[in-house]
Amino acid sequence: MSGIFLKKINKSFGNTLVLNNVDLEIYEGEFLTLVGPSGCGKSTLLRILAGLESSDSGEVFIGGADMTKVKPADRNLAMVFQSYALYPHLTVSENMLTPLKLRHLSTLERFPLIGPFISREKRNELTERVRKTAKILKLESFLKRKPGQLSGGQRQRAALGRAMVRNPVGFLMDEPLSNLDAALRVHMRSELSELHKALGSTFVYVTHDQAEALTMSNRLAVMMDGNILQLGKPREIYEKPSDIRVAEFIGSPKINIFSCNVIKSNQVEICGFKIQGNFQHFMDKKISIGIRPEHLSLTNDRNCIKGIIKHRENLGSDFFMHVESPNIEKRIILRVSPEEALNLQVDAKFNFNFSQKYALFFNSAGKRVEVFDPNNITNKKIA
Ligand code: ADP
Repeated sequence: MSGIFLKKINKSFGNTLVLNNVDLEIYEGEFLTLVGPSGCGKSTLLRILAGLESSDSGEVFIGGADMTKVKPADRNLAMVFQSYALYPHLTVSENMLTPLKLRHLSTLERFPLIGPFISREKRNELTERVRKTAKILKLESFLKRKPGQLSGGQRQRAALGRAMVRNPVGFLMDEPLSNLDAALRVHMRSELSELHKALGSTFVYVTHDQAEALTMSNRLAVMMDGNILQLGKPREIYEKPSDIRVAEFIGSPKINIFSCNVIKSNQVEICGFKIQGNFQHFMDKKISIGIRPEHLSLTNDRNCIKGIIKHRENLGSDFFMHVESPNIEKRIILRVSPEEALNLQVDAKFNFNFSQKYALFFNSAGKRVEVFDPNNITNKKIA
């Protein structure tokens, strides 16, 4: 077995259960992101994988070997922190060389006066490794600079470089972009994805930012309250969230949730409109429908859901309309194009609709349920 396997990991701090019997398999070479709200246990799980924190019970396998009790330095994983952890008084090149020297040179070979004479060949090899890594990271022209003379993004790459030179089996990253400004964060997302492709190594990435998780990862593990609620590809998690908490956490703006009444075993009612489906298990129980802002559409048909605009959010390429509707408690958010937005000022009244196929149904426990025959899902509008 290759890859990484976290098996039945439990961890409490005092009386607080932080990780609840977590199982997670990370495939070799994949970019897996642990994503969830602050405090859900992401960093603790990553630190247990790195060996920086011990679990109360459970096992950690790396490349098929049981590493549960192995020291962090011997796990051959590279941890990249948001604080970069670069030595401020050393140049980029020296920062990258330091972990190599510690690993590959003996104490005598590292000795400042005689070291360079007795280990010249080894040192040349290490310098070559630094040069190659700097080339991949486009850091060649910054090798002689100190961290204070670099931009945030360059510092981030230098910190990555220091981790990369050791040829680790995997990179563990804990919110590495959170210190960067918004534009650079977006730029670094594509850099990290490209780097992952170029290296082909396993990346395990922690973030509370769902956009980072969706844009970079091969798979995401959505965590809440010490549990992994769903593990899957970004598209699967966005389109088929298994739990209402996943649906509400992934996607910006948030998915709209409507509570609706089951009126017959094959029919529910939402804002006075009927949806046909298999609801026989939900008689007398609550059911919620989730619809993403981009799946609500304007219509000229007056016999539809009515709304009044309370706030307009202009994102340039899109507008998000915050809407109140009779019989719906919460405000609804609806995405429209800039052209459509021209006629929709605050207090404007309008009608909207959605295709049944985009409706996600959740039972009273918050689990998603299939109510349509999978072979017969239509584009039918609700009214
Ligand atoms: P996340 O990375 O998802 O924000 P963490 O794994 O850092 O969450 O923390 C999970 C929970 O464990 C939080 O409630 C946090 O306060 C608590 N916690 C983390 N580290 C410690 C610690 N060393 N001592 C006590 N509580 C801790």
